[in-house]
Amino acid sequence: MILAVTMNPSVDISYPIQDFKLDQVNRVEHVRKTAGGKGLNVARVIKQMGEDVLATGLLGGAIGDFIIQELMKSEIKHDFFRINQESRNCIAILHDGQQTEILESGPTLSMEEGEAFLEKYREQLSEASIVTISGSLPKGLDCGYYRQMVEMGREKGVPVIVDTSGEALRQVLFHQVKPFAIKPNIDELSQLLNVKVEGSISSLKHLLSNELFQGIEWIVVSMGRDGAFVKHGEEYYRVTIPRIDVVNPVGSGDATVAGLAVALNRKQTVQDVLKTAMTTGMLNTMEAGTGYINLAKFGQLLELVKVKKVD
Ligand code: ATP
Repeated sequence: MILAVTMNPSVDISYPIQDFKLDQVNRVEHVRKTAGGKGLNVARVIKQMGEDVLATGLLGGAIGDFIIQELMKSEIKHDFFRINQESRNCIAILHDGQQTEILESGPTLSMEEGEAFLEKYREQLSEASIVTISGSLPKGLDCGYYRQMVEMGREKGVPVIVDTSGEALRQVLFHQVKPFAIKPNIDELSQLLNVKVEGSISSLKHLLSNELFQGIEWIVVSMGRDGAFVKHGEEYYRVTIPRIDVVNPVGSGDATVAGLAVALNRKQTVQDVLKTAMTTGMLNTMEAGTGYINLAKFGQLLELVKVKKVD
């Protein structure tokens, strides 16, 4: 079973308002509300790939209830730690071809709540074959929290894939117990290394040979329409993808993490792991919904992904 962790889930609300006016009343008809947060996107895509997944993390209040209902509708198994505070809403106003976002920062957790979740996580690890940890940490939790979760995974022999950014990622990497896999995009990599990363093979290879990444089995640097650059063990790969018609690219990174987790769980070859991860990312861009893929197009797209070893 794949355990998909979301520590700060949300209900994502989109308001399509053609002609949005500031300081006036704007009416909206086609409101869309979905269970959001990066780890929930991951869980949805894993489920659509036909793999056994358990969604976990922290949630609370009526918004938490809504998230649970949505997971039940999608038949995704879930076991969240309930908090007394309300989970967050994230609002996107779609207007004039643009997207204005209003993101609540969400609840502030106590140390006790953080500890209590770790207890639940420890139990869930016993059932898990692989873990994905996605997105930001809620306020109140120490930025070394994910580092602890990676360490607990290592103790139980369960590989952990981490997809986060900023200080939480830095804390995970500046530690002797490394995650099994990470999936930064170019911006996250730049932020992490404090340099402007350009996408050339030689510079990426040089950057990923940094001591910081030693001991991480898979580093998948996702590059949007340009595919990915990957370090696996001591080997490097350039992965290229076909040109496709993109409908909505939001959540493609999460779909990539889902594909990676599924392929690793199925013990696929290096080539197939990378092809699967790229294909789920691409499939997500081809749908309007975030964290949704149309599996019917999987095989055909997979064939078009090219994995080339870099010397
Ligand atoms: P997000 O933050 O929206 O989840 P991300 O920045 O983490 O995304 P990306 O590098 O944009 O991740 O995309 C992940 C993968 O999804 C890419 O490696 C690729 O396979 C696919 N993808 C993303 N954007 C495109 C695109 N415009 N065309 C084709 N494939 C894409």
